Amino acid sequence: MQLGFMSDLSSTAADLSTVQSQAQSLNSILRHNWNLKEVNALFAMPFSDLMFKAQTIHRENFNPNEVQVSTLLSIKTGACPEDCKYCSQSARNKTDLEKESLLAVEKVLEAAQRAKEMGSTRFCMGAAWRNPKERDMPYVLDMVKSVKALGMETCMTLGMLSEDQADQLNGAGLDYYNHNLDTSPEHYNQIITTRTFQDRLDTLTNVRSAGMKVCSGGIVGLGEKAVDRASLLIQLANLSPQPESVPINMLVKVEGTPLANIDDLESFDFIRCIAVARIMMPHSHVRLSAGRTAMNEQMQAMCFLAGANSIFYGCKLLTAENPETNQDIALFEKLGINTETVVGDTERSDNIVKTAIADQQHSDLFYNASV
Ligand code: SF4
Repeated sequence: MQLGFMSDLSSTAADLSTVQSQAQSLNSILRHNWNLKEVNALFAMPFSDLMFKAQTIHRENFNPNEVQVSTLLSIKTGACPEDCKYCSQSARNKTDLEKESLLAVEKVLEAAQRAKEMGSTRFCMGAAWRNPKERDMPYVLDMVKSVKALGMETCMTLGMLSEDQADQLNGAGLDYYNHNLDTSPEHYNQIITTRTFQDRLDTLTNVRSAGMKVCSGGIVGLGEKAVDRASLLIQLANLSPQPESVPINMLVKVEGTPLANIDDLESFDFIRCIAVARIMMPHSHVRLSAGRTAMNEQMQAMCFLAGANSIFYGCKLLTAENPETNQDIALFEKLGINTETVVGDTERSDNIVKTAIADQQHSDLFYNASV
């Protein structure tokens, strides 16, 4: 009788565990058929319920106490022919940005080495171009090969890419290509008119077909409606495969751009956007990107709780200010967050905190090289 009771109990426990693991896999299932009604419903959830759902999915797929860290360097600054209304690098916006021509490969390598010492695992190189010209390609290919040789992951954002350019970058060993969708297709023409939403999707197709990983996200706070944020996330999540990396940027208002005086986005709307991105793209790294200087530690912590697990640190974020590395390290320590490291590189991991704090005086290297 006792044995039977025990066996009933263990079969109940087994059933429960099966149900739990089925619920987990249902939660984390990758879908590419999201529709507006259900995404609007996610955004409308009570905040605590939304955070719980996002955190549950996050824990099923990632170590919740680990954040991937990337460094972004501007390799060519300003004088961009595109008309992105938020951007200080557009030649059409009257900002006091200093232009810089394409950096020498040695300068880029020096910055990448420093970023590695500060704990970054991925080095992203951005150029303010509509698209790279053929004469630029040998230089950028050299940059990819040199940074790869340091043992870092590489990412570039150079504007639109042809199939051939994507193949060349893949051949050089580029791991990720960043090309953001920026905003919803419906709001897009209010923000950019010099390239179409479809142009952006075409570049992402070329990147994916060449064999590289995709980094693509958007910017919120561009004067879009709530439904536009849902629509942007649908565009990203319904890509198949989904982008491996999804930067969610908060608009950084720059004097001299058409969006300099736009109303601030409510903080909770931003956090909701991170949480919904985590739910819709359970396997992607969701990156808390531009706009962190305007966020206090508590808000950043809420973003990590909502499922953000990647940041940029250690330099200016292209045109936008980025928190000093030691502030990030201090926040990570308060929250018990570790940085994702290259597998097997535990010694480097141990040294990250010490090195990053000691190296703050070198941050001008990144300052000079960025916008
Ligand atoms: S966002 Fe990129 S493409 Fe648009 S203006 Fe700025 S640098 Fe040029």
